[in-house]
Amino acid sequence: MKPQVIIIGRPNVGKSTLFNRLVGKKLALVDDQPGVTRDRRMGDAVVAGLEFTAVDTAGWEDEDPDTLPGRMRAQTEVSIEGADAALFVIDARAGLTPLDEEIARWLRTQSVPVVLVANKAEGAAGESGVLECYNLSLGEPVALSAEHGEGVADLFGALWPVIGEKAEGSERAGEIEGEEEEDGERPLGPLKLAIVGRPNAGKSTLINRLLGEDRLLTGPEAGITRDSIAVDWNWLDSRTGERRDIRLIDTAGMRKKAQVVEKLEKLSVADARRAVDFAEVVVLLLDATRGLEHQDLKIASMVLEEGRALMVAINKWDIADNASSLFNGIKGALDEGLSQVRGLPVFAVSAKTGKGLDTMLHAAFELRDAWSKRVSTAALNRWFDDALEANPPPAPGGKRIKLRYITQAGTRPPRFVVFGTRLDALPKSYERYLVNGIRRELGFDAVPVRVVLKSPK
Ligand code: GDP
Ligand code: GDP
Repeated sequence: MKPQVIIIGRPNVGKSTLFNRLVGKKLALVDDQPGVTRDRRMGDAVVAGLEFTAVDTAGWEDEDPDTLPGRMRAQTEVSIEGADAALFVIDARAGLTPLDEEIARWLRTQSVPVVLVANKAEGAAGESGVLECYNLSLGEPVALSAEHGEGVADLFGALWPVIGEKAEGSERAGEIEGEEEEDGERPLGPLKLAIVGRPNAGKSTLINRLLGEDRLLTGPEAGITRDSIAVDWNWLDSRTGERRDIRLIDTAGMRKKAQVVEKLEKLSVADARRAVDFAEVVVLLLDATRGLEHQDLKIASMVLEEGRALMVAINKWDIADNASSLFNGIKGALDEGLSQVRGLPVFAVSAKTGKGLDTMLHAAFELRDAWSKRVSTAALNRWFDDALEANPPPAPGGKRIKLRYITQAGTRPPRFVVFGTRLDALPKSYERYLVNGIRRELGFDAVPVRVVLKSPK
């Protein structure tokens, strides 16, 4: 069950307008269902990713606006019983009325947590009304304009501490029932893996080795490969003893089709681009005897820009000179050349001898897990609060930039939305601070993470 949030307040403060704003298109009129009171409307509401059932207590309007009629109180008492929070709406333009104060007095005797909402707060006309609200002893009001949509997302900050846990719980319950699966939590199918790299890096040899059969022709002339696109196989993870399904995207095979075009350097980027469309994890294969070349960085950047999980394997390790300085040199150059990720996983392998391949595949599964992961809004905001406290956003021109909360908007690749105000003034360096924190502290190392900044409307 989603948490229930009841909207209460005297007539004309904007309860219905707020309800419609919260519920949006998903409005479900409960009137049509038998056995439900005609005076209540319920709907699926969402504020910045926080989901709850909004209950509008419209219908009381018919009553005498200057008193709190018994019928209204009875109604409210019924509604409030099942509620996890109450949004108590006042009209900031009109200021507090005796009826508002009476409702506030009554609310203070109730056990439901109350969030005070100063509606109609757009422009300057609502300012004094917002201040008056503090006199109700119901905490800090959320100033907003239901009609114009301004400040409505700020309700997240006030509602989250009250109903956040239950909202997360209901999400999980929904999953168990299989009603509403998040993309990231769907059971992951075969690992879709692509091996890309310059001609002669050893892609065909590697694929042959992995599949354990001579299904691709390899040779010094790049491009002699058979035409398959995807090969399913079942890999025995020697670390865990588990058998795991892998769908290998055979880009070398794809290349053959375009073989007539002789510009092979160009071709390997095109191959990679096609492979990336299919793949979850992309292995960029380097040739240890050639090191990291510009072309490799170009492929790596493209893979990350497409939001795929990337790892690097340095092949032909069996004939590498100066192994440890080669390895560190390549790792350093990758970190320097690719600003999108930190600590890209790099493996030394030999397609010829099989060295390092199990370790690489094991890591590929782990990388996909991170790439597909969803962090609960609760954990995310705990981290967020700490990060802001440790290093508060700057105050350019003496005005603070307010960052209010963060939600994960998607997975594969992970996408996050940070809500706040004055975001245009937020320096890039601060954005990087947040992105690095997400990577390091929430387990998204080496995954291309997207962060979008949004001002609530
Ligand atoms: P309810 O009786 O509490 O449900 O109030 P309504 O939602 O019916 O709104 C009462 C009146 O206030 C309507 O004319 C709305 O258009 C107006 N109203 C609602 N929200 C706002 C707001 O944010 N700003 C202004 N200026 N008017 C609003
Ligand atoms: P592709 O163009 O990327 O598919 O590369 P190939 O698989 O055709 O390999 C190019 C050349 O490198 C071939 O002569 C392979 O035998 C050789 N090669 C591939 N992997 C290794 C390796 O791990 N060690 C060594 N010594 N040679 C390799």
